[in-house]
Amino acid sequence: MSMSKDQLEDVFCPTCGKDEERKLIFSRTDGISFYNCLKCNIEYASPRLKEKSLLDLYEGDGWRDKSYYENWTYENWKKEKGKDYYLVQENINLVKRFLKSGSSILDVGCDIGLTVKALEESGYYSEGVEVSTIGSKIAAEKTGIKVHNMKLEKYQPNIIFDGVFLLNVLEHLYDPIQLLKECGDNIKQGGYIFLHVPHHKGLGTQYKKYLHKKGIKHDYRHFGFPAHIYAFDKKSLTEMLDKAGFEAIHFESWSNILTRGKVNVFNYFLVQLIKKFSLSDYIVCVAKKI
Ligand SMILES: [Zn+2]
Repeated sequence: MSMSKDQLEDVFCPTCGKDEERKLIFSRTDGISFYNCLKCNIEYASPRLKEKSLLDLYEGDGWRDKSYYENWTYENWKKEKGKDYYLVQENINLVKRFLKSGSSILDVGCDIGLTVKALEESGYYSEGVEVSTIGSKIAAEKTGIKVHNMKLEKYQPNIIFDGVFLLNVLEHLYDPIQLLKECGDNIKQGGYIFLHVPHHKGLGTQYKKYLHKKGIKHDYRHFGFPAHIYAFDKKSLTEMLDKAGFEAIHFESWSNILTRGKVNVFNYFLVQLIKKFSLSDYIVCVAKKI
């Protein structure tokens, strides 16, 4: 991908809005750099693509293999434990620790609605919001959930929810605090938001950063740019959530072994260790609306 100067913009830390206390982590040959705000601990891309240029890149749903979903059914996905099956189970297990059956959960960025459907099957009331037209069409017609094909700011629900899921969304957003506030508007006081985001303190990520520092790797590809413009850790999530009216109360992380359903007696304790000490390259955060 080539990027022209007028497609790019320089930005400050998304949490504190400043740039004087930042450390350059890596500079790519195409002009993209990655910084760490020393105050907020968030890692962010700057310059980055302007929002319109990134949306043009996505071109709606060009990345999705539509033919794959022609014969796809939720029941088969469940029976065959298809893509993301074990990840969805972890989402459900997480919710069960904080909200009892019968509670209501809104899944913001619900994609094809797998988590919403699994929540319903576990006795929760759930709806999804999804900006992708094709994603929400599959969610409604194939998965069979209640989905709203719109941005969260346009969504006008009849109820206020006990919890909101925001899974793999925050790292893509040009105004993450604004979206967190909008999520908060849909949550009861004392309710929860559940986040899943890239983790720059993950062991794999730290190792790749070390290879870049030593000059062995050169592209900083693990960051997921241009789709991902931030990476988080406990501190950066805590700071950002605080600005949006939430208190971060719990962190954990799910190893690939867990999300691919490969847990056995030999790796069980390793999986638990990774979970407890948040060692993998994505981090899970639960925060309470205050
Ligand atoms: Zn900052």
